[in-house]
Amino acid sequence: MYEILFMQKLGNFILGKWTEHEGDGQVLYNAVNQTPIATASTQGLSFEDILDYARKKSNPALRKMTFQERGRMLKALALHLLEKKEKFYTISYQTGATRIDSWIDIEGGIGNLFSNASLRRKLPDESFALDGEGIPLGKQNSFMGHHILVPKEGVAVHINAYNFPVWGMLEKIAVNLLAGVPAIVKPATVTSYLTEAVVREIIASNILPEGSLQLICGSAGDLLNHVQSQDVVTFTGSAHIGLLLKSHPTILSEAVPFNMEADSLNCMVLGEDVKPGDVEWDIFIKEVKKEMTVKAGQKCTAVRRVFVPENKLEEVCKALSSELDKTAIGNPLNEKVRMGSLASMEQRDEVKKQVQQLLASSQLIYGSLDSVSVIDANITTGAFISPIVLLNETPFATEAPHNIEAFGPVSTIMPYKGIDDAIALSKLGKGSLCSSIITNHQQTARKYVLGAASHHGRILVLNRECAKESTGHGSPLPLLVHGGPGRAGGGEEMGGLRGIKHYLQRTAIQGSPSMITAISNVYQPNAKGNNDNIHPFKKYFEELSIGDQIITEKRLITSSDIDQFANISGDHFYAHLINTDFSNTMFEEQVAHGYFIMSAAAGLFVDSYEKNPVLLNYGIDELRFTKPLYAGSSLYIRFTCKEKIAQEMKEINPDIPMTKGSDIPKGIVKWLVEMLDEKDELVGIATILTMVEMKNKI
Ligand code: NAP
Repeated sequence: MYEILFMQKLGNFILGKWTEHEGDGQVLYNAVNQTPIATASTQGLSFEDILDYARKKSNPALRKMTFQERGRMLKALALHLLEKKEKFYTISYQTGATRIDSWIDIEGGIGNLFSNASLRRKLPDESFALDGEGIPLGKQNSFMGHHILVPKEGVAVHINAYNFPVWGMLEKIAVNLLAGVPAIVKPATVTSYLTEAVVREIIASNILPEGSLQLICGSAGDLLNHVQSQDVVTFTGSAHIGLLLKSHPTILSEAVPFNMEADSLNCMVLGEDVKPGDVEWDIFIKEVKKEMTVKAGQKCTAVRRVFVPENKLEEVCKALSSELDKTAIGNPLNEKVRMGSLASMEQRDEVKKQVQQLLASSQLIYGSLDSVSVIDANITTGAFISPIVLLNETPFATEAPHNIEAFGPVSTIMPYKGIDDAIALSKLGKGSLCSSIITNHQQTARKYVLGAASHHGRILVLNRECAKESTGHGSPLPLLVHGGPGRAGGGEEMGGLRGIKHYLQRTAIQGSPSMITAISNVYQPNAKGNNDNIHPFKKYFEELSIGDQIITEKRLITSSDIDQFANISGDHFYAHLINTDFSNTMFEEQVAHGYFIMSAAAGLFVDSYEKNPVLLNYGIDELRFTKPLYAGSSLYIRFTCKEKIAQEMKEINPDIPMTKGSDIPKGIVKWLVEMLDEKDELVGIATILTMVEMKNKI
């Protein structure tokens, strides 16, 4: 009922249209029962034209869009795909995935689109961004430097592994699309029918500008011969193919950025403090089991090595075995099933081969290579394998468990003596994507993290406090770095704003503050301001220009002001009290509270007498007090429009009391507040954030 019952010729979506593949193509099979379901091929495609089309057709359209527009585009795409998700689940079962496995792949992938869409709030309303802080480069303040990030003019080429046909694509395109760069996705052929189904929905939605996404199902052919220096290639897959591609002559000669996520021997450590009966004991056993059985262990982050204090070895083996006994294996369409099949018969043969190699130095303590009992399935026609637990009692003397990755439900348990040993063992994997430690002892966790972090891309510390909410050892998250050193590929993808920087060129720019302001559309201190005698709070969002500025009247700060502020705020810190003996302090006499200066600043720059387009003030960024302000000094403010970010209207739910009524068209305006004394010296500086009404909604 859920299967595609005819041989579908998978399409390649290239040069703006779907094309049916030439020739017979490679036959792709349902992993559960070996029914042929589709064929795929890239025979006859011109990869040179495909790359060129992305660079010339789509890149200019995407790079012109602002981060806000690109973010909204990702959100629209996420909502669209969410509506279609059941269709993807239906197809996903054929990869051997259970509902939960498919949820990680499908909704995890869509979640990535949402997360990246939300990242727009940390980015400007421009097609480019400034990176970091401006740097003054001259004593007279007329010369400065900054860094600007602009979208690369090429295309993101994603060569993906077979295990996450949806997530693998969406986690990557979310990032390059937000950055303003189009993508060519080459999923692993064996499960490309699911990626193809998702791409069909993406294209049909018409949400992306033409050419933003092209799909090729089948061999990558001579694709890499045609990449150029403005392109970025990402690869997820096995280390040996990764090495082959990374050292491709065109990648090397054109200096094409290449991000690699390869197989890694991830590990999980049971803390020495944990004993049977503890909450952490159960957390550990369940987490190991989960890592072995979710996606039938076909996760790049799955736990391959399990390090256990030597005095708990026997109990761990027993507890894990009885937990694994509860795993129902079989046809993922059966609701009782908790572990499906591997993605193909070839993959099963591959896993068995790797286990045979591991068995040369380890012993089998759970599972079998020859038999597995399955529900609603047949092991001769489905790619099923039992969970396999191996034990290696001499982990420092044997390389294999730290070297051989069996990409299935396979883990090796190994003993350790003391946390230093656990750290050393974790490093024998020569670089991994993820490691976990299960401990309720803070010093153990600290020692492990600081000792082992150099060799792992991510470290999860699990205990009773976070286990319920934890996303688990195996889940890379869109806002955290995914990747790892050494064997894991030395790559780094996602990671919030860090991720999009892979697709942006960072360029140092130098010039006068006014020039850098004009280029970046972000006001730089010491740039010329615009004073048109209209208070900027009287202007609507559209009427404000970067650099609009007022210089306020001076206000005398008296001792009585400082006393009154101390009384109102309750801040009676000695430096603010007139009777303090100031010898051996940082101050000469009673000093104004920094927060008083900031409040007095607001009193000076706020135009308060009538209603105006400023809807609210919602915070202060980067508030600094740079010089003490003593009673008897004067204060005045240079107040400048620094940056503007237009916002889309929020959908208001009238059933939620706090949101009754309709949203107001508005944008965020950041203002630079420079607080100066009678010598024109800076006593404080801040960026304040306001919401300002727009005349027209976007
Ligand atoms: P794979 O055999 O290395 O293939 C990965 C991708 O490379 C596929 O799209 C494959 O296409 C393509 N490819 C193979 N040879 C190529 C060539 N000569 N030129 C261009 N592309 C080529 O890996 P897999 O079997 O799909 O995935 C399993 C492996 O991936 C495991 O070792 C696992 O650890 C690793 N993995 C790592 C991560 C991570 O984030 N670190 C994530 C998932 C998986 P075809 O399918 O058409 O051959």
